[in-house]
Amino acid sequence: MTTHTSILIIGAGFAGLGMGIQLRRAGREDFLIIERASDVGGTWRDNHYPGVACDVPSHLYSFSYLTNPNWSRVFSPGGEILDYMRGCAKDEGLLPKIHFETDMLECRWDAGAGQWVVNTSKGVYTAPILITGTGHLADSRLPDVQGLDSFTGASFHSAGWDHSIDLKGKRIGVVGSGASAIQVVPEMQKLASELVVFQRSAPYMIPRADRAYTEGEKRLFQRDPETVDALRSEIFWGGEFNFAQRRNIPRYLNEAKKMALGHLDTQVADPTLKAKLTPDYEIGCKRLLISNTYYPALCAENTVLEASALARVEGSKAYGASGEAYDLDVLIFATGFEAVRPPFAKRIFGTEGISLDDHWDKGMQAHDSIAVHGYPNLFIINGPNTGLGHNSIVYIIEAQVDYILGALDHAETRGIAVMEARKDAEDAYMDRLHERSQGTVWLAGGCKSWYVDDRSGRLTLVWPDFAHSFRDENGTFHPGDYVTQPERIAAE
Ligand SMILES: Cc1cc2nc3c(=O)[nH]c(=O)nc-3n(C[C@H](O)[C@H](O)[C@H](O)COP(=O)(O)OP(=O)(O)OC[C@H]3O[C@@H](n4cnc5c(N)ncnc54)[C@H](O)[C@@H]3O)c2cc1C
Repeated sequence: MTTHTSILIIGAGFAGLGMGIQLRRAGREDFLIIERASDVGGTWRDNHYPGVACDVPSHLYSFSYLTNPNWSRVFSPGGEILDYMRGCAKDEGLLPKIHFETDMLECRWDAGAGQWVVNTSKGVYTAPILITGTGHLADSRLPDVQGLDSFTGASFHSAGWDHSIDLKGKRIGVVGSGASAIQVVPEMQKLASELVVFQRSAPYMIPRADRAYTEGEKRLFQRDPETVDALRSEIFWGGEFNFAQRRNIPRYLNEAKKMALGHLDTQVADPTLKAKLTPDYEIGCKRLLISNTYYPALCAENTVLEASALARVEGSKAYGASGEAYDLDVLIFATGFEAVRPPFAKRIFGTEGISLDDHWDKGMQAHDSIAVHGYPNLFIINGPNTGLGHNSIVYIIEAQVDYILGALDHAETRGIAVMEARKDAEDAYMDRLHERSQGTVWLAGGCKSWYVDDRSGRLTLVWPDFAHSFRDENGTFHPGDYVTQPERIAAE
């Protein structure tokens, strides 16, 4: 059976939901969302590990048009964010539009019909407009560890936590020292008889200004929504101020570094541990982390920091690259996601019949960070060069949704059936981004990070500028950058 719709959205995380909500609000009802899982929420459905929470304050890390006066804390726990997203989907009437447990397997552009033909685990969909909201951090990445199959204990990824395993009193290994690991480790330290943290490279960390909101504050937010707007604005511009560090401006870099190293100094007394925890690259090159509990967990008597990657497993023994061996009952991989080469790209085939993944053999790129030459009527939300290290991704998603709404309005008023980003426009956009990213700490900071694609040495994940300049530049559709086909030609 083939299901036809005017607009097909893939994914029901912040991107897919935000797109669907705004389509409905704009009076466009002829769309569907397909989601491979059985619930909405994306990141916040899949990441339910102990300690999971956002690291951009909740009042900003939420839709600007669906503010929530009831956030319990500055950085709310993951479950609360998931509930918020479920509430948004329900209240905005989106649930009937979402086809759950429907995995997009392959999308092919049918030039004759001027539409995408989308094969899924639940049948075929056709749609002139295809919008992906499949996320940067939706597919777990496991490192290639020799002998991992021989591990006699339990093992799982932080984004697929196995709650059936009783971790109390177990010898636990956590692999990784990134954003998820630093939330997982303090929780595991409370439970484990012995905890080993495998750290390939030390992160910079600053204090987490977290606290619960009082009932009085929540009542104020409920009574006077403008206070929420004011708070959002304060958080947003605070984040923008912090972006200055990434610009490699020495004064700001030094300030941030002083704060991070001061935090380490205050929380870790042991000079050997402190040395292991001192990063050897410029601050901001990798994600700057926030935690008050990670360093204390590493200082606890039951914790060992193995300052090398997990290199090999043999039965119950896990070996660091240093050669040190540890007997473990559980291995938890907080090793991140397939962000640089997102799996969805292997499944989308454009005008030349080439997959986006092959097309992106030098790294992801898209015109205005949303459209790709050779892939007409495809809009990618939260795709190439949209990531932020310093501010809310929901802000970027909202800007991209506005761009798409503009494109749809333009096509409708001009009788356009097919829109394709011009190659020269896309190349010029990418050259501008490349130029802009020169000298940033991501490229010049002396670290290896997933922000940069090894194949080209280019920054393919992150938007190399302030968040507000993303909206200024990419929050509005640019019709002149597209070649178009009118409806009648496409129909011939
Ligand atoms: C632990 C964690 C904490 C984070 N904290 C923050 C934070 O504080 N602030 C911030 O700005 N960002 C944070 N992020 C980044 C976060 O991923 C984004 O903010 C945001 O949730 C992305 O939304 P999305 O809709 O683009 O992607 P996702 O939330 O990843 O949703 C993508 C959806 O697409 C679906 N999908 C994927 N492939 C297919 C397919 N083939 N067929 C059908 N469906 C498919 C997935 O199942 C998923 O539901 C965090 C990420 C993680 C992992």
